[in-house]
Amino acid sequence: MKRPIKICKNPDCQDEILEYKSSKREYCSDSCRNQHGHKRRTEENAEIIAHNKGMTVNYKLIKFHKDCNILFEELSKFEKMGFNPNYLPEAKLYIVGNVKVKCYKIKDVIFGLNPQNTNQIIIYK
Ligand SMILES: [Zn+2]
Repeated sequence: MKRPIKICKNPDCQDEILEYKSSKREYCSDSCRNQHGHKRRTEENAEIIAHNKGMTVNYKLIKFHKDCNILFEELSKFEKMGFNPNYLPEAKLYIVGNVKVKCYKIKDVIFGLNPQNTNQIIIYK
């Protein structure tokens, strides 16, 4: 029976795996496996770090507005100041008045997009 050609999963290598005993083998060598694992973890960490940094910037902007009692503001204005809607915690539904609104909570601030006007950020007290 002819064995299928296996290619090393390390993107920096991608050599053909010439000898393998198990069909589960994914890398040509231990060093390739370690290298790829390390690279993947570093990339995942970089994403988490970028996300946390973005959330910190977002938090400061929201907090500043809240402290100044500016509770309604255009999203585009926030974005000009560095707010990045890609860096938000998971949305939660809050009941405001009688409507369920998608909100984001970072530390002590809760905010969301105005359901009637998705270009506006509302900060809840
Ligand atoms: Zn390899």
